[in-house]
Amino acid sequence: MGTTVLHACDLIDGQGTDQRRGVDIVIGGDSVREIVPSRPAATYEAVDEIVDSAGMLVLPGLINNHTHGTAYGPLFPSGHERLTHEQVRANLDRHLLEGTTTVLCVDGFVTAEELASTDEAHPVNIRLASCNTPACLEAATVADGGGLTEANRRFSAGQAVAAGAVALGEIGAGHTLGGGGASYMYIPAEVRRRTGVTITPRQANQLKVAVLGRHISASAFDGDAVEEALAAAELIGKLSVEDVREIVSGIVLPAFDIALRGLTEAADQARKQGVPVLVHNAAASMTQVASIATTDVRLIAGHSNHSSFELREAVEHAERLKEMGAIVDVSTLDTFGAQRLTPSPDLLYAMFAAGVVDTISTDYAGGHHDPILLAVDRSTKAGVVGLSEAVAMATANVADAIPGLAPRRGRIVPGAIADLMVTDPAELTRVGIVMIGGEIVVRDGRRVTG
Ligand SMILES: [Zn+2]
Repeated sequence: MGTTVLHACDLIDGQGTDQRRGVDIVIGGDSVREIVPSRPAATYEAVDEIVDSAGMLVLPGLINNHTHGTAYGPLFPSGHERLTHEQVRANLDRHLLEGTTTVLCVDGFVTAEELASTDEAHPVNIRLASCNTPACLEAATVADGGGLTEANRRFSAGQAVAAGAVALGEIGAGHTLGGGGASYMYIPAEVRRRTGVTITPRQANQLKVAVLGRHISASAFDGDAVEEALAAAELIGKLSVEDVREIVSGIVLPAFDIALRGLTEAADQARKQGVPVLVHNAAASMTQVASIATTDVRLIAGHSNHSSFELREAVEHAERLKEMGAIVDVSTLDTFGAQRLTPSPDLLYAMFAAGVVDTISTDYAGGHHDPILLAVDRSTKAGVVGLSEAVAMATANVADAIPGLAPRRGRIVPGAIADLMVTDPAELTRVGIVMIGGEIVVRDGRRVTG
């Protein structure tokens, strides 16, 4: 690792400041050494590589505060069966090629040993959050728990923070709180088991809302809506309204109240341990999330554009949370591509337009998340947020929100660790080069190997 010059590039430094044109970024060792007005390449001596970046845009490597399946260990805060190591590395590759250099894995039960072995296998910086408080562990065990070993169960949130976990989270995820996980995993699986019919996440979601409403309550049951949802999923004659009530209630309700209790419990623990708490913010958890926001814990309201919210409800809830000092995160989810659960970018755009967004992450969306840069590109082109501002939401803002996550990263300034990317200003998702700690790990949009 010697000296590299990114030559004649444009720069957005991650701090929300205006774009600079025609600069040279000199990287020595693992750090940014200096940023100067571009000068002829021939005047550089004793430089290992000069990367001609004329017309290209340099951004800090993205810091993604909400990922799943990015460490060897149980998947999701429901302690679901683990992905294979190959799948985890493929997920990390995907984040890396999308310009992400640091991920926070919020699966919540991964041990320090499991993290260390993932870290060894991949250049992306991986940090852990823990959701292993008594109530969250109980909710996971009730909802699923299929991937939890004794070691995972024993690795409590307190131990995790002592071993370097930088936050508690994801608390009350979609798999224990009747959110996306119920819609794209557990309900379709049970319907398939009983009928042989494969239903889509949106059809499953319609069944769920018909039985329990958007805010998840047994009293919200609406038999006519269940009939409609059965018809939409072509399940008439295969399942009765009562069957659906039993399936959905049986999947969602046993863990639900325990998971709600887990929100308060985890916020208390996070406050005592001096780390932020990252919560699943959705229609079903909004009351508990708002009450946590009144305490003095550092609260990150994850994916505040969750598809269970109605538009005005989400924006007003986020405004209230922000007034109380919470950090409002939005996730790309499957907003632009798969749209399995998020039907359009309207809510994401409304959140930007309302000026309530602090950070941008991906979440998982059943493996169908859109790249952060795609959301930034589309949102800036739609005129709902400025480019420098949006980049800060995925870089410096995230580093500042979770102090242990990415120290000295998320900004391109002299002295910072050189995590950055070179991309196409006309189409931000066309990432050419990614550098982590001064080393080029992606070239021409491909992993550098060997
Ligand atoms: Zn999540």
